[in-house]
Amino acid sequence: MKIAVLKEGAGETRCAAIPETVKKFVDLGAEVAVENGAGEAASIPDSEFEAAGARVGSRADALKGAAIILTINGPEAGTLKGAGKGALLVGGLDPLRRRELVDAYAAAGLEALAMEWMPRITRAQSMDILSSQSNLAGYKAVVDAAAAYGRAFPMMMTAAGTVSPAKVFVMGVGVAGLQAIATARRLGAQVSATDVRSATKEQIQSLGAKPIFVENVAGIEGEGVGGYATETSPEYQKAQAELVSAHIGKQDIVITTALIPGRPAPRLISDAQVATMRPGSVIVDLAADAGGNVEGTVSGETVTRHGVTIIGAANLARSLAADASALFARNLYNFLSAFWDKEQGKPVLPDEDEIVKAIRLTQGGKVVNERLIAA
Ligand code: NAD
Repeated sequence: MKIAVLKEGAGETRCAAIPETVKKFVDLGAEVAVENGAGEAASIPDSEFEAAGARVGSRADALKGAAIILTINGPEAGTLKGAGKGALLVGGLDPLRRRELVDAYAAAGLEALAMEWMPRITRAQSMDILSSQSNLAGYKAVVDAAAAYGRAFPMMMTAAGTVSPAKVFVMGVGVAGLQAIATARRLGAQVSATDVRSATKEQIQSLGAKPIFVENVAGIEGEGVGGYATETSPEYQKAQAELVSAHIGKQDIVITTALIPGRPAPRLISDAQVATMRPGSVIVDLAADAGGNVEGTVSGETVTRHGVTIIGAANLARSLAADASALFARNLYNFLSAFWDKEQGKPVLPDEDEIVKAIRLTQGGKVVNERLIAA
Protein backbone atom coordinates (compact mmCIF):
# COMPACT_ATOMS: atom_id res chain seq x y z
CA MET A 1 0.00 0.00 0.00
CA LYS A 2 1.78 3.06 -1.26
CA ILE A 3 1.03 6.70 -0.36
CA ALA A 4 2.32 9.48 -2.62
CA VAL A 5 2.97 13.02 -1.39
CA LEU A 6 3.31 15.49 -4.26
CA LYS A 7 5.00 18.85 -4.61
CA GLU A 8 2.25 21.45 -4.95
CA GLY A 9 1.86 23.84 -7.87
CA ALA A 10 3.19 27.40 -8.10
CA GLY A 11 2.05 29.77 -5.32
CA GLU A 12 1.31 27.01 -2.80
CA THR A 13 3.69 26.86 0.13
CA ARG A 14 2.10 24.07 2.15
CA CYS A 15 2.77 20.34 1.99
CA ALA A 16 0.18 17.61 2.62
CA ALA A 17 2.51 15.55 4.79
CA ILE A 18 5.07 16.25 7.50
CA PRO A 19 7.69 13.84 8.89
CA GLU A 20 5.43 13.07 11.87
CA THR A 21 2.52 11.90 9.68
CA VAL A 22 4.90 10.02 7.35
CA LYS A 23 6.17 8.06 10.33
CA LYS A 24 2.64 7.33 11.50
CA PHE A 25 1.65 6.03 8.06
CA VAL A 26 4.78 3.87 8.01
CA ASP A 27 3.79 2.54 11.44
CA LEU A 28 0.41 1.57 9.97
CA GLY A 29 2.30 -0.52 7.41
CA ALA A 30 2.17 1.86 4.44
CA GLU A 31 5.01 2.75 2.12
CA VAL A 32 5.34 6.54 1.69
CA ALA A 33 6.91 8.20 -1.37
CA VAL A 34 7.53 11.95 -1.39
CA GLU A 35 8.23 14.01 -4.50
CA ASN A 36 11.56 15.89 -4.43
CA GLY A 37 11.23 19.28 -2.76
CA ALA A 38 7.60 18.74 -1.68
CA GLY A 39 8.24 20.25 1.75
CA GLU A 40 10.77 22.90 0.78
CA ALA A 41 8.44 25.93 1.01
CA ALA A 42 7.20 24.67 4.40
CA SER A 43 10.80 24.40 5.73
CA ILE A 44 10.85 20.58 5.56
CA PRO A 45 13.97 19.32 3.74
CA ASP A 46 13.77 16.02 1.82
CA SER A 47 16.23 14.54 4.33
CA GLU A 48 13.65 14.88 7.14
CA PHE A 49 11.09 12.96 5.14
CA GLU A 50 13.72 10.29 4.48
CA ALA A 51 14.60 10.11 8.16
CA ALA A 52 10.90 9.55 8.92
CA GLY A 53 10.85 6.53 6.61
CA ALA A 54 9.78 7.96 3.25
CA ARG A 55 11.41 7.40 -0.11
CA VAL A 56 12.09 10.69 -1.90
CA GLY A 57 12.23 10.83 -5.70
CA SER A 58 10.75 12.17 -8.90
CA ARG A 59 7.01 12.76 -9.29
CA ALA A 60 6.77 9.70 -11.56
CA ASP A 61 8.55 7.56 -8.94
CA ALA A 62 6.27 8.82 -6.17
CA LEU A 63 3.10 8.19 -8.18
CA LYS A 64 4.03 4.78 -9.60
CA GLY A 65 1.48 2.29 -8.25
CA ALA A 66 0.30 4.65 -5.45
CA ALA A 67 -3.02 3.73 -3.84
CA ILE A 68 -3.36 7.08 -2.07
CA ILE A 69 -2.26 10.55 -3.21
CA LEU A 70 -2.11 13.30 -0.59
CA THR A 71 -2.43 16.87 -1.76
CA ILE A 72 -3.20 20.39 -0.53
CA ASN A 73 -4.85 21.55 -3.79
CA GLY A 74 -6.27 19.42 -6.58
CA PRO A 75 -3.55 18.82 -9.23
CA GLU A 76 -4.44 18.56 -12.94
CA ALA A 77 -5.53 14.98 -13.62
CA GLY A 78 -2.96 14.66 -16.42
CA THR A 79 -0.14 15.11 -13.88
CA LEU A 80 -1.23 12.05 -11.87
CA LYS A 81 -0.42 9.37 -14.43
CA GLY A 82 1.04 6.16 -13.07
CA ALA A 83 -1.04 6.00 -9.89
CA GLY A 84 -2.78 2.71 -9.13
CA LYS A 85 -6.27 1.99 -10.46
CA GLY A 86 -8.94 3.59 -8.25
CA ALA A 87 -6.32 5.48 -6.22
CA LEU A 88 -7.68 7.83 -3.55
CA LEU A 89 -6.89 11.49 -4.16
CA VAL A 90 -7.24 13.21 -0.79
CA GLY A 91 -7.03 16.97 -0.24
CA GLY A 92 -8.64 20.38 -0.76
CA LEU A 93 -10.21 19.96 -4.19
CA ASP A 94 -12.52 23.02 -4.39
CA PRO A 95 -15.19 20.92 -6.16
CA LEU A 96 -17.76 23.60 -6.93
CA ARG A 97 -15.33 26.05 -8.48
CA ARG A 98 -13.22 23.41 -10.23
CA ARG A 99 -15.91 21.11 -11.51
CA GLU A 100 -14.04 20.23 -14.75
CA LEU A 101 -11.21 18.92 -12.62
CA VAL A 102 -13.60 16.60 -10.77
CA ASP A 103 -14.86 15.25 -14.09
CA ALA A 104 -11.25 14.67 -15.14
CA TYR A 105 -10.55 12.72 -11.93
CA ALA A 106 -13.58 10.52 -12.64
CA ALA A 107 -12.39 9.94 -16.22
CA ALA A 108 -8.93 9.03 -14.93
CA GLY A 109 -10.48 6.42 -12.62
CA LEU A 110 -9.39 8.20 -9.44
CA GLU A 111 -11.49 8.28 -6.26
CA ALA A 112 -11.41 11.97 -5.32
CA LEU A 113 -12.13 12.92 -1.69
CA ALA A 114 -12.75 16.62 -0.99
CA MET A 115 -11.60 17.28 2.56
CA GLU A 116 -13.28 20.72 2.69
CA TRP A 117 -16.65 18.96 2.61
CA MET A 118 -15.98 17.16 5.88
CA PRO A 119 -19.25 17.24 7.85
CA ARG A 120 -19.30 19.26 11.08
CA ILE A 121 -19.77 16.40 13.48
CA THR A 122 -17.76 15.71 16.60
CA ARG A 123 -16.12 12.60 15.09
CA ALA A 124 -14.78 14.65 12.17
CA GLN A 125 -13.42 17.64 14.09
CA SER A 126 -9.81 16.43 13.94
CA MET A 127 -10.14 15.94 10.16
CA ASP A 128 -11.48 19.41 9.36
CA ILE A 129 -9.09 21.32 7.07
CA LEU A 130 -11.35 24.40 6.97
CA SER A 131 -11.10 24.81 10.74
CA SER A 132 -7.39 24.14 10.99
CA GLN A 133 -6.51 26.61 8.23
CA SER A 134 -9.08 29.28 9.29
CA ASN A 135 -7.69 29.28 12.78
CA LEU A 136 -4.23 30.22 11.47
CA ALA A 137 -5.74 32.75 9.04
CA GLY A 138 -7.57 34.50 11.89
CA TYR A 139 -4.31 34.88 13.79
CA LYS A 140 -2.37 36.08 10.74
CA ALA A 141 -5.06 38.63 9.80
CA VAL A 142 -4.46 40.44 13.09
CA VAL A 143 -0.67 40.24 12.79
CA ASP A 144 -0.87 41.67 9.25
CA ALA A 145 -3.23 44.40 10.42
CA ALA A 146 -0.82 45.32 13.22
CA ALA A 147 2.05 45.48 10.72
CA ALA A 148 0.11 47.80 8.39
CA TYR A 149 -1.17 50.04 11.21
CA GLY A 150 0.95 53.08 11.96
CA ARG A 151 0.12 53.00 15.65
CA ALA A 152 0.55 50.54 18.51
CA PHE A 153 -2.00 47.98 19.71
CA PRO A 154 -1.53 48.04 23.50
CA MET A 155 -1.95 50.99 25.80
CA MET A 156 1.47 52.28 26.84
CA MET A 157 2.14 54.76 29.61
CA THR A 158 5.50 56.32 28.88
CA ALA A 159 7.41 59.32 30.17
CA ALA A 160 6.57 61.04 26.90
CA GLY A 161 2.85 60.45 27.33
CA THR A 162 0.24 57.77 26.91
CA VAL A 163 -0.34 55.70 23.77
CA SER A 164 -3.99 54.71 23.62
CA PRO A 165 -4.97 51.12 22.82
CA ALA A 166 -6.16 50.20 19.33
CA LYS A 167 -9.84 49.46 18.87
CA VAL A 168 -10.39 46.25 16.90
CA PHE A 169 -13.77 45.15 15.53
CA VAL A 170 -14.18 41.55 14.32
CA MET A 171 -17.12 40.82 12.02
CA GLY A 172 -18.02 37.14 11.72
CA VAL A 173 -17.12 35.02 14.73
CA GLY A 174 -16.52 31.53 13.35
CA VAL A 175 -13.20 29.74 13.67
CA ALA A 176 -11.13 32.58 12.10
CA GLY A 177 -13.03 35.32 13.96
CA LEU A 178 -12.56 33.69 17.35
CA GLN A 179 -8.82 33.37 16.79
CA ALA A 180 -8.70 36.99 15.56
CA ILE A 181 -10.38 38.15 18.77
CA ALA A 182 -7.99 36.13 20.92
CA THR A 183 -4.93 37.41 19.03
CA ALA A 184 -6.02 41.06 19.14
CA ARG A 185 -6.67 40.74 22.89
CA ARG A 186 -3.19 39.24 23.42
CA LEU A 187 -1.71 42.23 21.62
CA GLY A 188 -3.53 44.51 24.05
CA ALA A 189 -6.29 45.91 21.82
CA GLN A 190 -9.82 46.78 22.90
CA VAL A 191 -11.91 44.29 20.98
CA SER A 192 -15.56 44.16 19.92
CA ALA A 193 -17.21 41.61 17.64
CA THR A 194 -20.43 40.74 15.85
CA ASP A 195 -22.10 37.80 14.13
CA VAL A 196 -25.56 36.76 12.92
CA ARG A 197 -25.57 33.59 15.02
CA SER A 198 -26.75 34.29 18.57
CA ALA A 199 -24.59 31.47 20.00
CA THR A 200 -21.46 33.51 19.33
CA LYS A 201 -22.38 36.22 21.87
CA GLU A 202 -21.21 34.14 24.81
CA GLN A 203 -18.06 33.05 22.97
CA ILE A 204 -17.17 36.71 22.32
CA GLN A 205 -17.65 37.57 25.99
CA SER A 206 -15.64 34.60 27.18
CA LEU A 207 -12.66 35.93 25.18
CA GLY A 208 -12.94 39.30 26.92
CA ALA A 209 -14.41 41.16 23.93
CA LYS A 210 -17.60 43.18 23.66
CA PRO A 211 -20.50 41.76 21.60
CA ILE A 212 -22.13 44.26 19.21
CA PHE A 213 -25.40 42.70 18.03
CA VAL A 214 -28.55 43.66 16.16
CA GLU A 215 -31.15 43.51 18.93
CA ASN A 216 -34.46 44.48 17.33
CA VAL A 217 -34.51 41.99 14.40
CA ALA A 218 -33.93 38.24 14.81
CA GLY A 219 -30.71 36.83 13.32
CA ILE A 220 -29.92 33.13 13.48
CA GLU A 221 -30.91 31.55 16.77
CA GLY A 222 -28.24 29.30 18.27
CA GLU A 223 -25.45 27.84 16.15
CA GLY A 224 -27.16 27.66 12.73
CA VAL A 225 -27.45 24.41 10.77
CA GLY A 226 -24.09 22.61 10.88
CA GLY A 227 -22.63 25.70 12.54
CA TYR A 228 -23.13 27.66 9.31
CA ALA A 229 -24.92 30.94 8.72
CA THR A 230 -27.54 31.45 6.01
CA GLU A 231 -28.53 34.59 4.14
CA THR A 232 -30.25 37.12 6.43
CA SER A 233 -33.55 38.96 5.76
CA PRO A 234 -33.50 42.42 4.11
CA GLU A 235 -34.85 43.76 7.41
CA TYR A 236 -31.92 42.27 9.33
CA GLN A 237 -29.44 43.57 6.75
CA LYS A 238 -30.81 47.10 7.15
CA ALA A 239 -30.57 46.91 10.96
CA GLN A 240 -27.04 45.49 10.68
CA ALA A 241 -25.97 48.31 8.32
CA GLU A 242 -27.21 50.90 10.84
CA LEU A 243 -25.35 49.14 13.64
CA VAL A 244 -22.13 49.08 11.61
CA SER A 245 -22.50 52.77 10.70
CA ALA A 246 -22.80 53.70 14.36
CA HIS A 247 -19.80 51.60 15.43
CA ILE A 248 -17.23 51.54 12.65
CA GLY A 249 -16.18 55.20 12.68
CA LYS A 250 -14.71 54.66 16.15
CA GLN A 251 -12.65 51.59 15.13
CA ASP A 252 -8.98 51.51 14.15
CA ILE A 253 -8.83 47.93 12.83
CA VAL A 254 -11.64 45.86 11.34
CA ILE A 255 -11.24 42.15 10.57
CA THR A 256 -14.07 40.70 8.47
CA THR A 257 -14.52 36.93 8.17
CA ALA A 258 -18.22 36.48 7.29
CA LEU A 259 -19.02 33.62 4.92
CA ILE A 260 -22.17 31.81 3.81
CA PRO A 261 -21.47 28.37 2.31
CA GLY A 262 -22.19 28.18 -1.44
CA ARG A 263 -22.97 31.92 -1.67
CA PRO A 264 -20.93 35.05 -2.30
CA ALA A 265 -19.72 36.60 0.95
CA PRO A 266 -22.25 39.01 2.52
CA ARG A 267 -21.45 42.71 2.01
CA LEU A 268 -21.03 44.15 5.51
CA ILE A 269 -19.17 47.43 4.96
CA SER A 270 -19.94 50.01 2.25
CA ASP A 271 -17.51 52.52 0.79
CA ALA A 272 -19.40 55.31 2.62
CA GLN A 273 -18.83 53.47 5.92
CA VAL A 274 -15.11 53.06 5.14
CA ALA A 275 -15.01 56.84 4.62
CA THR A 276 -16.12 57.40 8.26
CA MET A 277 -12.99 55.65 9.63
CA ARG A 278 -10.02 57.80 10.50
CA PRO A 279 -7.06 57.83 8.09
CA GLY A 280 -4.50 55.17 8.94
CA SER A 281 -7.14 52.64 9.95
CA VAL A 282 -6.79 49.11 8.57
CA ILE A 283 -9.37 46.61 7.34
CA VAL A 284 -8.42 42.97 6.68
CA ASP A 285 -11.06 41.24 4.58
CA LEU A 286 -10.66 37.48 5.04
CA ALA A 287 -13.67 36.88 2.78
CA ALA A 288 -11.83 38.50 -0.18
CA ASP A 289 -11.68 35.23 -2.10
CA ALA A 290 -15.46 34.80 -1.84
CA GLY A 291 -16.18 38.31 -3.17
CA GLY A 292 -15.32 40.26 0.00
CA ASN A 293 -17.27 41.63 2.96
CA VAL A 294 -16.04 45.14 2.21
CA GLU A 295 -16.83 47.33 -0.80
CA GLY A 296 -13.56 48.02 -2.61
CA THR A 297 -11.71 44.87 -1.49
CA VAL A 298 -9.41 43.42 -4.15
CA SER A 299 -8.55 39.77 -3.49
CA GLY A 300 -4.82 39.25 -2.99
CA GLU A 301 -4.09 42.99 -2.98
CA THR A 302 -3.82 45.90 -0.58
CA VAL A 303 -5.66 49.07 -1.59
CA THR A 304 -6.21 52.43 0.08
CA ARG A 305 -9.65 54.07 0.18
CA HIS A 306 -10.29 57.35 2.00
CA GLY A 307 -6.93 56.89 3.76
CA VAL A 308 -7.95 53.45 5.04
CA THR A 309 -5.81 50.42 4.11
CA ILE A 310 -7.95 47.50 2.91
CA ILE A 311 -6.10 44.19 2.76
CA GLY A 312 -7.85 41.64 0.51
CA ALA A 313 -6.52 38.60 2.32
CA ALA A 314 -6.41 35.48 0.14
CA ASN A 315 -5.40 32.20 1.73
CA LEU A 316 -3.44 33.61 4.69
CA ALA A 317 -2.65 30.10 5.95
CA ARG A 318 -0.10 29.89 3.13
CA SER A 319 1.97 32.55 4.86
CA LEU A 320 2.34 30.24 7.87
CA ALA A 321 3.45 27.32 5.74
CA ALA A 322 5.09 25.19 8.43
CA ASP A 323 2.22 25.28 10.93
CA ALA A 324 -0.44 25.17 8.22
CA SER A 325 1.21 22.07 6.71
CA ALA A 326 1.45 20.37 10.09
CA LEU A 327 -2.25 20.89 10.88
CA PHE A 328 -3.39 20.01 7.35
CA ALA A 329 -1.21 16.88 7.28
CA ARG A 330 -2.62 15.75 10.65
CA ASN A 331 -6.18 16.32 9.36
CA LEU A 332 -5.38 13.96 6.47
CA TYR A 333 -3.77 11.38 8.74
CA ASN A 334 -6.66 11.54 11.25
CA PHE A 335 -9.13 10.90 8.44
CA LEU A 336 -7.27 8.00 6.80
CA SER A 337 -6.26 6.31 10.05
CA ALA A 338 -9.85 6.45 11.36
CA PHE A 339 -10.91 4.27 8.40
CA TRP A 340 -7.79 2.06 8.41
CA ASP A 341 -8.49 -1.66 8.20
CA LYS A 342 -5.56 -3.42 9.86
CA GLU A 343 -6.11 -6.75 8.09
CA GLN A 344 -6.33 -5.23 4.63
CA GLY A 345 -3.56 -2.76 5.45
CA LYS A 346 -5.43 0.15 3.89
CA PRO A 347 -8.35 2.50 4.54
CA VAL A 348 -11.79 1.07 3.80
CA LEU A 349 -14.49 3.67 3.13
CA PRO A 350 -18.04 2.36 3.68
CA ASP A 351 -20.60 3.83 1.22
CA GLU A 352 -23.12 4.61 3.96
CA ASP A 353 -20.74 6.42 6.31
CA GLU A 354 -21.73 10.07 6.86
CA ILE A 355 -18.16 11.29 6.32
CA VAL A 356 -17.60 9.20 3.19
CA LYS A 357 -20.91 10.29 1.67
CA ALA A 358 -20.08 13.95 2.23
CA ILE A 359 -16.55 14.02 0.85
CA ARG A 360 -16.43 11.33 -1.87
CA LEU A 361 -16.68 13.05 -5.26
CA THR A 362 -15.85 10.32 -7.77
CA GLN A 363 -15.77 6.54 -7.84
CA GLY A 364 -15.69 3.88 -10.55
CA GLY A 365 -15.25 6.44 -13.32
CA LYS A 366 -18.28 8.54 -12.28
CA VAL A 367 -19.11 11.65 -10.27
CA VAL A 368 -21.06 10.23 -7.30
CA ASN A 369 -21.39 13.13 -4.86
CA GLU A 370 -25.01 14.20 -4.31
CA ARG A 371 -24.13 17.82 -3.62
CA LEU A 372 -22.11 18.02 -6.82
CA ILE A 373 -24.79 16.29 -8.89
CA ALA A 374 -27.43 18.67 -7.47
CA ALA A 375 -25.26 21.67 -8.35
P1 NAD B 1 -17.77 30.36 8.21
O1 NAD B 1 -16.36 30.47 7.76
O2 NAD B 1 -18.75 29.73 7.29
O3 NAD B 1 -18.30 31.85 8.51
C1 NAD B 1 -17.61 32.71 9.37
C2 NAD B 1 -18.59 33.44 10.29
O4 NAD B 1 -19.31 34.44 9.57
C3 NAD B 1 -19.66 32.55 10.92
O5 NAD B 1 -19.57 32.63 12.32
C4 NAD B 1 -20.96 33.10 10.38
O6 NAD B 1 -22.03 32.98 11.30
C5 NAD B 1 -20.58 34.55 10.14
N1 NAD B 1 -21.49 35.30 9.26
C6 NAD B 1 -22.11 34.90 8.13
N2 NAD B 1 -22.87 35.89 7.62
C7 NAD B 1 -22.72 36.96 8.45
C8 NAD B 1 -23.24 38.30 8.45
N3 NAD B 1 -24.08 38.70 7.52
N4 NAD B 1 -22.87 39.11 9.45
C9 NAD B 1 -22.04 38.70 10.42
N5 NAD B 1 -21.50 37.47 10.47
C10 NAD B 1 -21.85 36.60 9.50
O7 NAD B 1 -17.87 29.67 9.62
P2 NAD B 1 -16.79 28.74 10.35
O8 NAD B 1 -15.72 29.57 10.89
O9 NAD B 1 -16.38 27.68 9.41
O10 NAD B 1 -17.58 28.08 11.57
C11 NAD B 1 -18.83 28.44 12.03
C12 NAD B 1 -19.24 27.55 13.23
O11 NAD B 1 -19.11 26.15 12.96
C13 NAD B 1 -18.45 27.79 14.48
O12 NAD B 1 -19.36 27.94 15.53
C14 NAD B 1 -17.63 26.56 14.67
O13 NAD B 1 -17.38 26.29 16.03
C15 NAD B 1 -18.50 25.51 14.05
N6 NAD B 1 -17.66 24.38 13.58
C16 NAD B 1 -17.92 23.11 14.03
C17 NAD B 1 -17.14 22.03 13.59
C18 NAD B 1 -17.40 20.62 14.06
O14 NAD B 1 -18.21 20.42 14.95
N7 NAD B 1 -16.73 19.61 13.48
C19 NAD B 1 -16.09 22.25 12.70
C20 NAD B 1 -15.86 23.56 12.25
C21 NAD B 1 -16.66 24.61 12.71
